[in-house]
Amino acid sequence: TDISELLLSKIRDVADYPEPGVMFKDITPLLADPAAFTALTDALAEVADRTGATKVVGLEARGFILGAPVAVRAGVGFVPVRKAGKLPGATLSQAYDLEYGSAEIEIHAEDLSGSDRVLVVDDVLATGGTAEASIQLIRRAGAQVSGLAVLMELGFLSGRARVEPALAGAPLTSLLTV
Ligand code: IMP
Repeated sequence: TDISELLLSKIRDVADYPEPGVMFKDITPLLADPAAFTALTDALAEVADRTGATKVVGLEARGFILGAPVAVRAGVGFVPVRKAGKLPGATLSQAYDLEYGSAEIEIHAEDLSGSDRVLVVDDVLATGGTAEASIQLIRRAGAQVSGLAVLMELGFLSGRARVEPALAGAPLTSLLTV
């Protein structure tokens, strides 16, 4: 479709970043292009509307850049999921496995309520570990998950298979799959 071509044309492939053998998908050209950034924001806000979201959760760091305008456009609040140690208040923490080692993310549970339906937003779904852990945090905070929406899914890393059990029927929307 037209929007897919526009978005794809503004994503830059960076070889061997952040380490040798990795082809990094860099969204900064898309952010710098107002037509593309607006089209992306509108498409993700449409997912928020369609899934009945009452909050957007954005994943540090590029999920903040995408999630905040989506929340404003959809008329709902924004809640950040951050790397451990960055949030000042009382947090829930979730550890998860990486290819080598582990990571930990946190949320301010008090910013979600039991009546919230949360759309999780990020730029890239890779292995799905970060998104899966975020969904677990949202459920532990007592809220429901309305869906997971990403700009781009890296199909060869099978993140979809990893997050689908956690989503428990809520939709995974990826605007682009590579
Ligand atoms: P995952 O937990 O393996 O799915 O990794 C997802 C996280 O890593 C997301 O927060 C992404 O922002 C980031 N990430 C992984 N690969 C890329 C990439 O090629 N471009 C941009 N971000 C990436």
